[in-house]
Amino acid sequence: MAVDAVVIGAGHNGLVAATVLARAGWSVELLERSPVAGGAVGSDLTDRGYLHDWGSAYYGVLHTSPVLAELGLDHRVQWAHTGTPVAAVWDPARPAAVLRRSAEDTADGLGEDGPAWSELVGWWQRLGRPLFAAMLGPAGSPLPLLRAASGLRGPREVVQTARTMLEPVEAWAAHTFAGQDARMLVASHATHADTAVDGAGSTPASLLLAMAAQEHGMPVPVGGAGRLAAAMVDAAQEAGVVVRTGVEVSRVVVRRGRAVGVVTADGEGIAVRRAVVADVAPGVLARDLVGEQHLPGDWLASLRRHRYTSGFFRLDVDLDRPAPWADERLADAGVLHVTGDLDELALSQAEVRRQSLPRAPQLIVGQQDRADPSRVPPGAASLWVECHCPARPRDAGPDWEARFADRMLDRLALHAPGLREAVVDTTVTPPLGLEARDPNLLGGDVGGGSAAPDQLLVFRPVAGWSSYALPVRGLFMCGAASHPGGGVHGMPGRNAARAVLRRSNVGRLPLR
Ligand SMILES: Cc1cc2nc3c(=O)[nH]c(=O)nc-3n(C[C@H](O)[C@H](O)[C@H](O)COP(=O)(O)OP(=O)(O)OC[C@H]3O[C@@H](n4cnc5c(N)ncnc54)[C@H](O)[C@@H]3O)c2cc1C
Repeated sequence: MAVDAVVIGAGHNGLVAATVLARAGWSVELLERSPVAGGAVGSDLTDRGYLHDWGSAYYGVLHTSPVLAELGLDHRVQWAHTGTPVAAVWDPARPAAVLRRSAEDTADGLGEDGPAWSELVGWWQRLGRPLFAAMLGPAGSPLPLLRAASGLRGPREVVQTARTMLEPVEAWAAHTFAGQDARMLVASHATHADTAVDGAGSTPASLLLAMAAQEHGMPVPVGGAGRLAAAMVDAAQEAGVVVRTGVEVSRVVVRRGRAVGVVTADGEGIAVRRAVVADVAPGVLARDLVGEQHLPGDWLASLRRHRYTSGFFRLDVDLDRPAPWADERLADAGVLHVTGDLDELALSQAEVRRQSLPRAPQLIVGQQDRADPSRVPPGAASLWVECHCPARPRDAGPDWEARFADRMLDRLALHAPGLREAVVDTTVTPPLGLEARDPNLLGGDVGGGSAAPDQLLVFRPVAGWSSYALPVRGLFMCGAASHPGGGVHGMPGRNAARAVLRRSNVGRLPLR
């Protein structure tokens, strides 16, 4: 029997899209190749009783998204916090810079830059938050932008804000703050995206992450990321979505230029009346599932310009005691950016972009168990560590993964003398290990492609095709490769489902 829509892939974006469609009264089947739904939102329990978030771990950005309340994730999930959401740790000889739960406490700790921090937070509340909210909505949608613009103080501020959005974050930080602490506290957030601290466009992502942390903290789900995925599955099923795991879609059936169903790897055919919505990397969708013969050559050529970035190298370090940080305040930190100064950060990012293993890894460290002790045995601790790294480093040699993991541990130990004696186990997942687990994470890229300015908004993932539709009627994409991009906020899924509903009479409406 035909359903209104099939959603391919139960990453969080597929789950959101399916829920929105089902709430509109559509019959929806959601097909996921893995045994567990959630995509890169999930956790594993080790034999020794340590719970690892294998993919995403911190959900401050989700707390900026309307999806949180719309799916009831604010009450379906028990959120836990630390008193220090973020710390910038860049010089073993100096105390770290810390972002505290209250903006006043953060400002107090930043000395001469305290007033500038408070001013930044004021800017975020007046302008930054609505501006980023507008950027999360459909690309080019005028209403939220107009609403955000109403907070602007005249045309000069429009131009100044536009400039900030393109400015390299190290330049922005240098003219905003006098001291290294405040500069590093914002600029070290550039370690999350692929945008270089000295490159255009690194300011927006760094500001969004720093200000989301200031406003919402760094929330983690009690019981691990898997609990968030389970809560999203509950929301989808309550809306009437049929969620099927262990079902891989191998083909989208196209007849006379229209998607009319899917075929699974087991040969099962499912007919659709209205839409096929894919939480699948668009290149894979076009080549392997749809077939390039069904797609226009100029669209395919444009899609091939969508760039993926370096991957993440993941390392879980299980400890028999809390990490012995030299700066004791770090015992209460959720996320630590363990990096060099801005010069080192820029050089290291350039090495990775040139496909070399970074000599000095720039680390993002999570201590989820500081907020949620249920994740580790009593008295123990675990560090969730990640670092940008090429998927196939050109100068690495054999067994590079073990040596690189060791290099990451060395860097941590500089700030936590005695760390190695506390290690009971390590789990290493190189970029291609992430891709093996979830094929959307191409080369270990966790955001569905670069977040450089030429890949955002109307350019994502195909210039002129940011509206989620493909040039096949009734076929849509909803994953992180689509606008507004990677991270767990569910907006590609939400925007895509709304676009599908707007065009629900897909047979008669124009393609875009
Ligand atoms: C190591 C790591 C750390 C991260 N840290 C954070 C963080 O702390 N905070 C944050 O906000 N974000 C973080 N992210 C990014 C975030 O997790 C991703 O951007 C987000 O999960 C992407 O969601 P998605 O639904 O678009 O795709 P995915 O989560 O990749 O899900 C896609 C799903 O589709 C399935 N699928 C693909 N093809 C098929 C097919 N043919 N048939 C059936 N199923 C198919 C896959 O199996 C997968 O389950 C991190 C990601 C990783 C990997």
